[in-house]
Amino acid sequence: MKTGIATVSISGNLEEKIEAIAAAGFSGIEIFEQDFIADIRSPRAVGQRIRDAGLEVMLFQPFRDFEGLPRPRRAKAFDRAERKFDVMQELGCDLVLVCSSVHPEALGGIDRAAADFAELGERAAARNLRIGYEALAWGRYVNDHRDAWEIVRRADHPNVGLILDSFHTLGRGIDPETIRRIPGDRIFFVQLADAPAIEMDLLYWSRHFRNMPGEGDLPVTDFMRAVMATGYVGPISLEIFNDQFRGGSPHTIAQDGYRSLIALMDEVRRLEPEAASEIEPLPAPIAVRDTAFVEFAAQGDGLAELESLFASLGFRRVGRHVSKRVTLWQQGSIRIVLNAEETGHAGNAWKARGTTICDIGLSVGSASDTVARARALGAKLFSQPLGPDELTIPAIRGLGDSVLHFIDEGALADVWNVEFLAEADAAPDAGLIRIDHIAQTMTYDEMLSWSLFYTTLFDMRKAPMVDVIDPDGLVRSSAIASPGNAFRVTLNGAETLRTLAGSFLAAGQGATVQHIALETDDIFATARAMQAKGFAALPLSSNYFDDLAARFDLDPAMLEAMRSANILYDADDSGEFFQLYSQPFAGQMFIEIVERRGGYRGYGAPNAPFRIAALKRLQQPKGILAA
Ligand code: MG
Ligand code: MG
Repeated sequence: MKTGIATVSISGNLEEKIEAIAAAGFSGIEIFEQDFIADIRSPRAVGQRIRDAGLEVMLFQPFRDFEGLPRPRRAKAFDRAERKFDVMQELGCDLVLVCSSVHPEALGGIDRAAADFAELGERAAARNLRIGYEALAWGRYVNDHRDAWEIVRRADHPNVGLILDSFHTLGRGIDPETIRRIPGDRIFFVQLADAPAIEMDLLYWSRHFRNMPGEGDLPVTDFMRAVMATGYVGPISLEIFNDQFRGGSPHTIAQDGYRSLIALMDEVRRLEPEAASEIEPLPAPIAVRDTAFVEFAAQGDGLAELESLFASLGFRRVGRHVSKRVTLWQQGSIRIVLNAEETGHAGNAWKARGTTICDIGLSVGSASDTVARARALGAKLFSQPLGPDELTIPAIRGLGDSVLHFIDEGALADVWNVEFLAEADAAPDAGLIRIDHIAQTMTYDEMLSWSLFYTTLFDMRKAPMVDVIDPDGLVRSSAIASPGNAFRVTLNGAETLRTLAGSFLAAGQGATVQHIALETDDIFATARAMQAKGFAALPLSSNYFDDLAARFDLDPAMLEAMRSANILYDADDSGEFFQLYSQPFAGQMFIEIVERRGGYRGYGAPNAPFRIAALKRLQQPKGILAA
């Protein structure tokens, strides 16, 4: 399968785009005319540069307002085409995209357009070039791929074929099943884009809000299934117009694009196996069984702070690493690793960020399948030198400088016995059972990348984005969960650095985990047990509890217990949710304790403004509070 991306999809100058596209793993490139015109090199030199980067020049685009013109404009359009053909031959590109006309003087009529394309095909054939015709969703007469196909069919020229673009078909709500009737060898090129479901002008939506397959709400998978069912074997290419991407890092956007394309085609292969036999098989999206461990990098006072925090949460120190300054803390199925090494990944993470979560371990069915899928999606393997008694645990680099380890039920599950010396700690626990969710903070621009990372590698679905109101600005929050909720991640994207999430980023933490939420099945008992161990809860305003009494029909005794233990409350149509927060540690990280009753699905978003305000109160210099 050949993969491509249009230069218009990413930021930078043409050289930066070529570099990023090649590094991400694409087989080719669609040259957008403007990118090419802005470059100072000759067409021949640009073509050579692209081929030297290991890329094919798959498509030259766009050629606009060609068909249906009255004389003498018609002759001028053919002259323009001949000049584009000259450039294409210099570039070494044999296919041009002609998009349906929006010219005010263009005339309608399928036969008129077909005659124009038959002649253009003849001229292209003389130079061994090909013409692809695309229906723009806002074309003057042709705005539906079925009409574009009818024109191509009637033009009846081997050098004239159809170009399909998922946005133009799906954005107008045209049933993609209609594509199945088109012969695959008459489709010359396929462009893909997704888009969020927003009601707005089609042209504006297309030019500013397209995104990668899987990032939006259009049925791109159905579109691609229908395309593959035609027997199409040509390139599959991304054409994304998006303001955020235009301002983003070329490498990140190119990698996201590649990841989205490979994951989409893998899904298509599973759903349409006979029609998609030439797509390389990958292990299926990985089912995460549990969070195996969360590892902190910490040293000195920061390490002591974490040790007393986890002791106050009811964790026991159960192991000490055979050769490294690493300890293992456990409660229920939750494992916390505290890593005080000064070298290696943890040491580097600590130097860069101070106390931080440097690694997350996930339990999976097959660690090698997980790594194979991650690599196919463009992830890099992670490894560092091992001590004599250490196991090789497969790991990848996530986004940023994050690391994910994968532990399966083979010998790897034994890592705790092999690498750690057991320590006897008989202190009673506080009833924490498992990790409920991991909350990552990032800039808003990074959210789509992270979301795509999780949803393409793992069997996880994202919930609709919700707005969290910070007193100093908006934070967008998106939850991603595996079926059965074995693994849940919330992504919080800060739009300004003045929000709590934003100041976490500004404090040098970068996009990383800001809190982990631990589950109990009796939050009141857990709160009492933790209090006895010296746990300091985040103090909430009394107004919050008065308001709860007004909003919910709560048992007065329970409300008083919540007030005295600083337990927050929410409910949805299927259940109830209780939350208890630690005070911030290591700057702005914190721990959340949750209890879910019934089938409550959320994460307590309505409580976020009050939790954020309480955290910010603690961060203010003491004098202000006293005054
Ligand atoms: Mg297009
Ligand atoms: Mg949370």
